[in-house]
Amino acid sequence: MLNFQRLQEMVTLSSIELLEIVDYHEFLQKNTHDFESAIKTWLKKYNIKCDEDTLEVMLPEYFTTIISGSYGYDFYVIQYRQAMHWRLCGLTQSKSLLLISHIRKLLILYSEKVASHNLAKGLCHVLDMSQSIVATVYQISDEVERMRFHAENELKRIKRSFGLLSMEPPQALIQPFLDHLNWKFNAFSAALGERNFSDEIEISHTKCRLAKWLAAEGEGLIPEKELDKFHHSHKRIHQLGALAIEHSDLKQPEKVVELLNEMEVHSQVVSETLLNVIEDEFIRLATSDVLTGMPNKRSFELEFSKNIAFAERHNYWVGLVLIDVDYFKKVNDTYGHLIGDKVLKEISELITETARTEETTYRWGGEEFAVVTLDKQPGGAESLAERIRKAVEIHSFCANSKHPLSLSVSCGSICFKPPCKQPNHELFALVDKQLYEAKNAGRNCIVHKTLD
Ligand code: GH3
Ligand code: MG
Ligand code: MG
Repeated sequence: MLNFQRLQEMVTLSSIELLEIVDYHEFLQKNTHDFESAIKTWLKKYNIKCDEDTLEVMLPEYFTTIISGSYGYDFYVIQYRQAMHWRLCGLTQSKSLLLISHIRKLLILYSEKVASHNLAKGLCHVLDMSQSIVATVYQISDEVERMRFHAENELKRIKRSFGLLSMEPPQALIQPFLDHLNWKFNAFSAALGERNFSDEIEISHTKCRLAKWLAAEGEGLIPEKELDKFHHSHKRIHQLGALAIEHSDLKQPEKVVELLNEMEVHSQVVSETLLNVIEDEFIRLATSDVLTGMPNKRSFELEFSKNIAFAERHNYWVGLVLIDVDYFKKVNDTYGHLIGDKVLKEISELITETARTEETTYRWGGEEFAVVTLDKQPGGAESLAERIRKAVEIHSFCANSKHPLSLSVSCGSICFKPPCKQPNHELFALVDKQLYEAKNAGRNCIVHKTLD
């Protein structure tokens, strides 16, 4: 990063040149009017104008500081402000540098009038400083643009992912990420002296919107092992943002840049955690069934092979139970789809309650459910199927409504001890066959097969 305080050394402005600038100060000042009109002509030639009347392209102090003969702190503050101002006026970096070249030409012209080679050299060195500052200001501003672009891309990607599930991204989780970005960009704008930030900036990290979200639900959504790091970074962002704004008021641009750089490092920690929370929700939605909240068939397919591998390593039997509600179409036809949905939810709860905690239950699709069992002995799947059948048989559905219902389920089940000869799709076909036989046998019953 550019150290503004050493600029003078860097551009090797010699003491003779400096003296010459001081000596000719009055003469140069007399050229102020000429300087201003020459700049105006140049701006016109390049079609550069400012939209707002109040915004002149050149700050009034600019020329005065260039010819002042004193190139300390005040000098680079004005140069910094001038560069920010050019950017605000819509000048690109190359246009700003072109403008400096033009200013250089004018200053050489003035020097030629008094035939002072050292004056020309000195003023050129002063403009070298001005040029470096311009480059730095544009570099910071471009960096901020890149951050914005990156953030917008992240949001587009999230939208696209949820779009694949035909869903809108969950606003409750997107909002904290947006709140963080807005806060950061507002703090950046304030610290860089831009005027286009909208909100008040809440300095306290315990009162900002993100803090409110964290207290309400956010903390519960962030993995515990990441919480300390997240809180630390969030707190640091606020401290650094506040300091950057303060140093901006104190007109210390190089300190502002340093603080903003550090703030961005912490912002990446916060952003990544917030994006992970959104991604976790995406995975949950992609692998679970909307109506019952159970893992869906996609999730079953992802996990089934892992279950088999686990069983093989630990010498377990694997069982697969397929459950289909009997005559469910009649429920819909008689009571309507809403009641049908309610019944499906109730059945899903009943199945999950009947299975053991470690046995994962899935919504297989429609009015069909599946459970995977892991046991040291063979009979686990068969006995679970019978327990589920019984639980449904004795249950009163929609018990508190006008029409309590009785229902039954048919179950097909298989169990096997890995390694297993059949590929997964054959196992699924086999369990389907058992279910089909249960239906054929009159329903409200189970058909089981233990594989060799
Ligand atoms: P069977 O004993 O042979 O299984 O008869 P069934 O009526 O249960 O079987 P069928 O396959 O003819 O009908 C299943 C019904 O399940 C038809 C479909 O509208 C209904 N269904 C599937 N998914 C849902 C759902 O999410 N909500 C509701 N309300 N109904 C659903
Ligand atoms: Mg069915
Ligand atoms: Mg059915």
